[in-house]
Amino acid sequence: MFWDKQAETLKRGKLEALQIKQFNKTLDWAKQSLYYKEKLKDSIPSISKLEDIKRFPFTAKQDLRDNFPYGFLAVSLDDSVRLHSSSGTTGIPTVVFHTPEDIDHWAGLVARCLYMAGMRKDDVFQNMMGYGLFTGGLGLHYGSEKLGALTIPFGPGNSKRQIWFMKTFGTTAVHILPSYAFRLHSFFAGEGVDPVKDLKLRVAIIGAEPHTEGMRKQIEKLYQIKAYNSYGLSEMCGPGVALECEQQQGMHLWEDHYYMEIIDPATGEVLPDGQEGELVLTTLQRRAMPLIRYRTRDLTRIIPAECACGRTHRRIERIKGRDDDMLIINGVNIFPMQIEQTIMKYDEVQSHYLIEITKEDFLDKVHVKVEVHEGLFTESFSALEKLQKHITADLKSELGVNPKVHLVEPGSLPVTEGKAKRVYDLR
Ligand code: AMP
Ligand code: ZN
Repeated sequence: MFWDKQAETLKRGKLEALQIKQFNKTLDWAKQSLYYKEKLKDSIPSISKLEDIKRFPFTAKQDLRDNFPYGFLAVSLDDSVRLHSSSGTTGIPTVVFHTPEDIDHWAGLVARCLYMAGMRKDDVFQNMMGYGLFTGGLGLHYGSEKLGALTIPFGPGNSKRQIWFMKTFGTTAVHILPSYAFRLHSFFAGEGVDPVKDLKLRVAIIGAEPHTEGMRKQIEKLYQIKAYNSYGLSEMCGPGVALECEQQQGMHLWEDHYYMEIIDPATGEVLPDGQEGELVLTTLQRRAMPLIRYRTRDLTRIIPAECACGRTHRRIERIKGRDDDMLIINGVNIFPMQIEQTIMKYDEVQSHYLIEITKEDFLDKVHVKVEVHEGLFTESFSALEKLQKHITADLKSELGVNPKVHLVEPGSLPVTEGKAKRVYDLR
């Protein structure tokens, strides 16, 4: 049932006592860095209850950038063995450092996650996350080896060969970007491989980018497997922060390593469990680069109920989007995930879609370009027209703005390397 039963089922009281102890240690470790030495000089030296954490200042992504490259490093270079960076491709990257012990903890968290998603030692795990500075490749790799699974460090792309490996080595589990799970699927027919009959695949762990429940269901259907949502960010380690258990009802976030809060992004006020807001995380075990009250910008809520699986670490709900993803269309606030949620209800819709925002006659216009099944283009024109009308009406009632829906053939929208880029704001 559990990779680390003692840690995963720790009674709440004990877990919270551990958090207080680790937070105090983290304060001392953090003050070894140039940034926190200055930032925490007027803060209380330690806490005796978790509510006191509210009294500490937030750390923002901009702080990481402003103190690039070594301002957050809290150990000597002698003790640092790894650097990773976030997936942003422009500007100053946000970097994170690790000691050997940090790497070992991270691998342990990923192993817990993989086990929770049903992976075992005898699995063949094809890691389709990018290797390199991005945390997905090496993070999952170390975790999967720690679990003892045969690990294939394939990375994303190179789809024909990817499929050949899956078939030849009997891959049973993958970690994959949800957008890539669809793209990969479109290559099977050309290779003469049936993804259901010719593969041993049972589990796909999908994450690193936002996706809806509808998208998960489609992946499960296409491959006839179970798909589990996986959340992480490089600032906390990468993959291994939170994942779904077999209940598939929210992601357990490892609270012995991370202290979580949900805040109102506008006021910074801490919200009670169950309310939606921005996720704020504090590392509790990391030595090389402790982070205190890091604002993730990710919007979610803490699920205020125990999970049937027996794990005591609380769950967060599927990420609704990022605080900075929100689009303001003629004064109305819209999240791209609301659009995905609506269009994924249609069986005719393939996974790929793009959102374009333009300015027309001084007004904002939302264009939703959606790939739909090839068959629709050979049927009568009225079938396409009907579908387009339905989707437009649904989006209009869901979003409160009038979008223009374009139905296009599969494979006609541009794809991006790595995490999917869905929104093009051309205003
Ligand atoms: P990076 O630091 O480059 O790995 O990017 C981390 C960011 O990716 C997070 O802050 C989220 O915005 C996004 N992300 C990661 N996993 C998920 C997930 N399962 N669902 C939604 N967004 C995710
Ligand atoms: Zn659970």
